[in-house]
Amino acid sequence: MKDMPSYFGSMVFNETVMQTRLPPDIYNALQETITQGTPLDLDIADAVAKAMKEWALEKGASHFAHWFQPLTGATAEKHEGFISPGKDGRIIMEFSGQELLRGEPDASSFPSGGLRATCAARGYTLWDPSSYPFVKDGTLYIPTAFCSFNGEALDNKIPLLRSMDALNKQALRILRLFGNTGVKRVTATVGPEQEYFLIDKGVYLQRPDLLYTGRTLFGVMPPKGQEMQDHYLGSLKPRIAAFMRDLERELWKLGVPAKTKHNEVAPGQHELAPIYGSANIATEHNQLVMELMKTIAAKHGLACLLHEKPFAGINGSGKHVNWSMATDAGVNLLEPGETPAENLQFLLFLVAIIRAIDEYQDLLRASVASAGNDHRLGGHEAPPAIMSIFLGDELTEILKALETGAPYPGREKEQLQIGARVLPLIPKDTTDRNRTSPFAFTGNKFEFRMPGSALSIAGPNIVLNTIVAEVLREFADTLEQAGDFAGGLRTLIQRTIRQHKRVIFNGNNYADEWVREAERRGLTNRKTTVEALPALVAEKSIALFTRHRVFSATEIQTRYEIMLDNYCKTLHIEALTMAGMLQREIIPACISYQRELAQLLASKRSWGDLDYGLEESLLNDISQLCSSLHNKLAALKGAVEAAERERDALSRAQSYRDGVCTLMSELRVVVDGLERIVAQKHWPFPTYAEILHSIN
Ligand code: ADP
Ligand code: MG
Repeated sequence: MKDMPSYFGSMVFNETVMQTRLPPDIYNALQETITQGTPLDLDIADAVAKAMKEWALEKGASHFAHWFQPLTGATAEKHEGFISPGKDGRIIMEFSGQELLRGEPDASSFPSGGLRATCAARGYTLWDPSSYPFVKDGTLYIPTAFCSFNGEALDNKIPLLRSMDALNKQALRILRLFGNTGVKRVTATVGPEQEYFLIDKGVYLQRPDLLYTGRTLFGVMPPKGQEMQDHYLGSLKPRIAAFMRDLERELWKLGVPAKTKHNEVAPGQHELAPIYGSANIATEHNQLVMELMKTIAAKHGLACLLHEKPFAGINGSGKHVNWSMATDAGVNLLEPGETPAENLQFLLFLVAIIRAIDEYQDLLRASVASAGNDHRLGGHEAPPAIMSIFLGDELTEILKALETGAPYPGREKEQLQIGARVLPLIPKDTTDRNRTSPFAFTGNKFEFRMPGSALSIAGPNIVLNTIVAEVLREFADTLEQAGDFAGGLRTLIQRTIRQHKRVIFNGNNYADEWVREAERRGLTNRKTTVEALPALVAEKSIALFTRHRVFSATEIQTRYEIMLDNYCKTLHIEALTMAGMLQREIIPACISYQRELAQLLASKRSWGDLDYGLEESLLNDISQLCSSLHNKLAALKGAVEAAERERDALSRAQSYRDGVCTLMSELRVVVDGLERIVAQKHWPFPTYAEILHSIN
């Protein structure tokens, strides 16, 4: 594709388009708004809207939509035609600055956790000029923030932008201390790797569990799963390759820099990774990636599964969030660098992150909590629910030497005191990899591996930005007051390593031994969403969020309640789906097969001396499993009712976990037992074998 450079971003109202389409004074005013946040007056907004509309019409748009990220985890859009009444009954195509700047969707049905009473359900969408509008399917999409009448955040974008501001502010203080006065802005950079499954659409439609819950609630693994590791990085099947090509092209047009694609470990599992960008834009782009994966899969007769654990017995899907900080000059602050002075700065940022992760391990864990991700974390395929940091041997050794002032073995006999002269060069560590760590340093960025594949990355990014901002604030406070900068720095780095080295772990995070070791170290292990979520509203978290103005106390309380509610609703849907599949399909199938067996058994008996051992024992086994199923199904219904009776959100979630979740697992064992012995022709659903090996 020779024309790739002109093709890429061709549907985006980006910098280049703005430069060519906007009069210079308008362009400059808009730039000022984008880079410095100065308010945009209506005249300028009118001019921008006009240019945007002209451009969008050329791209085939007839509508515009304020595009936002409500607390459903997905995106939302409400389309408005450009049309306005003109003269003589004709219409004209119009789009005003006011329409660009602010929308008032009647969005009262989104979760707001009580922040808005429905009767006063005014919610506003406000244009975010730091992200780019784009045309998709005949509509001009305008990235917006979504807030209540009183300005409370009802979305993921507002707190994300606030957290980026907090990080910028504190990182700049640190850079100034190192004498760096040129940097104007520090931005959180993010590159999310997205895992997903593709299965045949026909098979998908025959499984109500996939349709309603995104995962299989029953299913026996076929003899061959992922054990041969022949799918990982294997050659792409033509149908998959065609899907990927289509997906990439659509993403490229929308300016999403999709770069890497490959087959993942489990059969039917794949991955896509873009080139990283600012946390704000990367978050929106990831939403587009997920959406387009689904719509383009459908065009290819496929279904894309983004659930964290669609199939038991093979790997689930994660979303590795690669995170770093960059200056406006494009300097990566987590690049170890080649000169000692830069090393010092790097080491300070590094220990700040170590402290942030250790101090706020529970909060970061809570940011990835969901019913779906509970099936993944700790499943010997994804990191456990214990937070730890992988640094690699080299960096770990360096930190050890710094802590004790002992000679650094990498450089013979040199005393490592944090005087710039004797600091070692820190090699860029690209070879050393640990795929089991939840938070791994990979050369010049951290890779956070706990988020599940379906999650909006806004949540973990908000927390990462805020906790690092908080530690940088503490550091800046200390260092600004230290009379002797070098001495203050030495003490600070040493103290931080001493206090937080327990969170560094370079070994195998999947090993049971680590769970015990982590407990000895005092690291927490919040295995389920119910245990994880309360950290969001712990006093320490509220103090953190309010100090940096990322969330007000009400806003974070709201999110906590929405996440709990979401957990309960997910399990409610799963339980109802399971009950429906059992009653209407699986039990009738078992009855038919039993009838067949019973009739045969009766005939054989009446025939006299024929052997009927097989029929009798099979009938007996099925019969036993069915009565167990019958009892557990009744118990499941009771458990759902009991959970629904709980008034308090946390107690309800606990009841779902302890009652509903447990019974669903038990029922699954029984049903899988039946699937193994009931005749294939009676089994009402496509099996794992048919689903996972459905694409040739
Ligand atoms: P790895 O092999 O460690 O996974 P890759 O080069 O494949 O490394 O990068 C994975 C993801 O990390 C990509 O999306 C990439 O753009 C992103 N990434 C690379 N550098 C940074 C950075 N400085 N900040 C944020 N993300 C980054
Ligand atoms: Mg990676």
